[in-house]
Amino acid sequence: MSDRDNNPVDLNLPPVLCIGDFPANANALVQARLAPVTLADIDRDDALRERIGAIVTRSNYDIDIALIERLPSLKIIATSGVGFDRIPVEFARERGIVVANTPDLLNAAVAELTIGLMLALLRQLPRADSFVRSGAWSKGAFALGTSLASKRVGIIGMGRIGKEIARRLAPFDVEIAYYGRTRQALSHESFAHPQALARWSDILIAACPGGSDTRHLVDASVLDALGAQGILVNIARGSVVDEEALVQALERKSIAGAALDVFEHEPLEASALCTFDNVVLSPHIGSATHETRLAMAQLTIDNVVSFFAKGKAITPVVSTNR
Ligand code: NAP
Repeated sequence: MSDRDNNPVDLNLPPVLCIGDFPANANALVQARLAPVTLADIDRDDALRERIGAIVTRSNYDIDIALIERLPSLKIIATSGVGFDRIPVEFARERGIVVANTPDLLNAAVAELTIGLMLALLRQLPRADSFVRSGAWSKGAFALGTSLASKRVGIIGMGRIGKEIARRLAPFDVEIAYYGRTRQALSHESFAHPQALARWSDILIAACPGGSDTRHLVDASVLDALGAQGILVNIARGSVVDEEALVQALERKSIAGAALDVFEHEPLEASALCTFDNVVLSPHIGSATHETRLAMAQLTIDNVVSFFAKGKAITPVVSTNR
């Protein structure tokens, strides 16, 4: 690509507003290609605000209706991430504003983290690491863990990421089943309700979208069905799991443990979840690798450029509901 292609003026783009921040390598790309302005810029310049044609953001920032209403020339919201539960997609659509996300190219990173979290919990890796570092090893053996082999793994949301998790789990010699609103043409067994899937599963993975439709899909009844030997892995959205019910289930030992990348309130602080030995936590890092975040930023930019050059984003969000 030539320098000319990289120049936002030559690309004939309207001013672009950036909400939130991108990791350093991705930010350099966004700055070079789109030269975005900030909320502070539009707050002090009404003429600039009125000309904003695009928002670029990441999936962990809220784009609220009030902001969209302040931007009369807005044509596209391009989010770096696959989840769009923090964007009022229907409201945008009613105004003719396109929403675009970055599906697929983060499947591998999220699937890798999911399997990493699961193994970290089953084999107690965070505690094993502390055990060695603290010198406790010389005083006795470390507690036994649990094997992944031969377990039944249930996936809530057998979409792009769910399928990648299933594909990467296959060599671990597990049985896989899923729950979703649609029965798909897959060799895996499907269940008509998350409770039924949980009852079947040793390990239950949430990999569906967040938002009102899936809020507390994993509730007390699903955790009860998962049972005292069962573990929960959530890489979907915090809203998918009733966190209070999860804490109660952990306190009562009515499930065996949880591995969580996402939380009802992020960043997670001073939560009861931090007090359990049988819980492994990560700070919403499903897609957080250098390679993946750079590719996501590139597609976010390409969505904006394509929209203004050809009238179409490359990966528009097709629908929020069916
Ligand atoms: P996707 O391809 O759209 O798959 C979503 C799956 O969830 C589909 O199989 C869908 O099946 C199912 N689903 C949707 N609504 C549902 C509902 N109301 N009840 C039950 N199942 C439902 O999306 P994806 O690319 O795999 O991404 C999935 C989610 O992963 C994202 O939306 C995001 O929340 C999360 N994510 C997390 C991270 C992280 O850092 N932890 C990173 C990326 C993505 P049916 O249509 O048949 O129901």
